[in-house]
Amino acid sequence: MIVKRMTQSISLFTSLIVLAGCASGNGEETGPSEVEETEIEGTTGTDESQGENPEESQDQEETDDEGETGSQSAQDSSADEEEDSPLNFEDDLMDPDSLKVLVNKQYALPEDYEPADLVTVEVPTVLDNPEIRQLRTEAAEALKDMFDAAEEEGIFLHARSGYRSYQTQVQLYNSYVSNHGEEAANRYSAQPGHSEHQTGLGMDVTSESVSYQLTEAFGDTPEGIWVEENSHEFGYIIRYPQGKEDITGYQYEPWHLRYLGQEVATDVFESGLTYEEYLIESGIDIEINE
Ligand SMILES: [Zn+2]
Repeated sequence: MIVKRMTQSISLFTSLIVLAGCASGNGEETGPSEVEETEIEGTTGTDESQGENPEESQDQEETDDEGETGSQSAQDSSADEEEDSPLNFEDDLMDPDSLKVLVNKQYALPEDYEPADLVTVEVPTVLDNPEIRQLRTEAAEALKDMFDAAEEEGIFLHARSGYRSYQTQVQLYNSYVSNHGEEAANRYSAQPGHSEHQTGLGMDVTSESVSYQLTEAFGDTPEGIWVEENSHEFGYIIRYPQGKEDITGYQYEPWHLRYLGQEVATDVFESGLTYEEYLIESGIDIEINE
């Protein structure tokens, strides 16, 4: 079997699962913070039913890789892409296990995708739900480093919502629809498969100064400003910056951090672009919002 290996050394895993599809969709993942807290709290325990069988991943890997690889060899593909970009579309952006995986309204994760290396974050958290206190190992370690560094400067951060299983997102999205209608739900809640939280690489952070809520006001607090200025050094970016709604499709979310690894996060930060714009600037052909 021909498998295109990732060219980035920061990948922890050899398991490759190519995205099942690129269905377009609607919605962001976080809405009014009060609602989110209620819904997330209500989903405690769903992680138990989400256990993904590693063998299923293997099966999917074989099936999809054979279909995706085509006539281009793995070596050629990687070498060609590196001419223009540090990232490769298939290996970095379309592989759910890649730390660079692209998940947005255009690109979804497979329903059965669950990271194999989720761990509970070792930082102060707001909610008790054990599922959402998890991140993938490398992201969790980076989060801890970031929170520790912030604390040394008198900045106290709190983690609120990290990993969400596909099923948790189903419940969250459906609760928004039933409470606020589908149109409203799609403005702030991602449809299942389209939430970056399912990657295990997204974490919503907050602080006491905004009562541990997820609110735009966080961006103006010392904590929010610190995160905006420093998170890239720990591999994170502000995924949905202010004034970029037309590109990301999502409202400004100063609290939503996405782990990309220090190198790419720093590149994105220094570019002043969203992740989508950065990828396009790098010569990678991706679909974006119209
Ligand atoms: Zn978020």
